[in-house]
Amino acid sequence: MKITETIDIRFPKTLAEALRLQAGEKTRGQLLAGGTDLMVQWASGAPTPERATSIWNLPELDAIEIFDDFIEVGAGVTHAFLRDAAPIHRHLPALVAAAATIGAAQIQARGTLGGNAANASPAGDTAPALLVSGGSVLLASRSGTRTVPLDRFWTAYRRIDAQPDEIIVAFRLPRKGSARERFRKIGTRRAQAISKVMAASRIRIVKGRVTSAAIALGSIAPTPVRLSAVESLLVGQKLTPALIDEAEQLAQATVQPIDDIRSSADYRRWASGRLVRDALENL
Ligand SMILES: Cc1cc2nc3c(=O)[nH]c(=O)nc-3n(C[C@H](O)[C@H](O)[C@H](O)COP(=O)(O)OP(=O)(O)OC[C@H]3O[C@@H](n4cnc5c(N)ncnc54)[C@H](O)[C@@H]3O)c2cc1C
Repeated sequence: MKITETIDIRFPKTLAEALRLQAGEKTRGQLLAGGTDLMVQWASGAPTPERATSIWNLPELDAIEIFDDFIEVGAGVTHAFLRDAAPIHRHLPALVAAAATIGAAQIQARGTLGGNAANASPAGDTAPALLVSGGSVLLASRSGTRTVPLDRFWTAYRRIDAQPDEIIVAFRLPRKGSARERFRKIGTRRAQAISKVMAASRIRIVKGRVTSAAIALGSIAPTPVRLSAVESLLVGQKLTPALIDEAEQLAQATVQPIDDIRSSADYRRWASGRLVRDALENL
């Protein structure tokens, strides 16, 4: 592995200090969290910055707080911490399940939720689970903080609504309440597999009828996507085998899958429908 030895990595002790170091930065990518994406990119020939700011272990980014209606998950929370944080399992099970599929134990111990979201890979496993929560991202800079709804956060391939001087501080995620959540990932094998397609869903059923539905797919398009046509089909309907067939077919008809080294568009289209069927049959 070749890593340039000339990166000046600064280690602030507080968020305020990190924001001061980031102020005036013109390009993204100098924020180093767990480094599991960034170090690989630097070692694979991506332009290395002259300096970077480590936000690993910043206390302000490391907490999970449970409020009445939502959970605030710090951007620096690792996948291993999410996976093992029993108190949040019943509130955000899809996110916990997604975190538990990332890489293997070593990557989960180091990779962070903020890094997964900010890296903005279409194959970022936590993105669909974040999307179906209907939550938002909290960003801080020296000029203050702002909130971006997650459905507007990923703007294009590998692009997010964040400025170079902004740090993602946390994700504010509504608790699922009486809805059911599901996360399924299709990869080549069970560990260390980058997704071909993954799906997260949050669906509420009252007396056999769907009252709310959020279904999102990842690895299928340049950004994670909500299946709004399928969601609209489901809401207000009784969940029957015929409706599940229709939802599967509609998913396959409406997705616009990418074709790349991990999978073909045809396979992704077929698998999208099967993942929708899986989520609905699981209800
Ligand atoms: C062997 C291996 C297997 C992997 N398997 C998977 C997998 O199965 N699924 C998957 O989704 N990913 C996988 N990854 C990718 C990676 O581990 C995850 O995306 C991880 O969550 C990245 O987090 P990090 O803290 O290491 O980010 P870093 O590498 O530190 O940063 C990634 C990007 O996010 C930015 N960033 C980080 N934190 C913030 C913040 N708080 N605010 C603003 N910008 C920020 C950085 O500047 C950088 O641009 C794998 C990686 C490896 C090496």
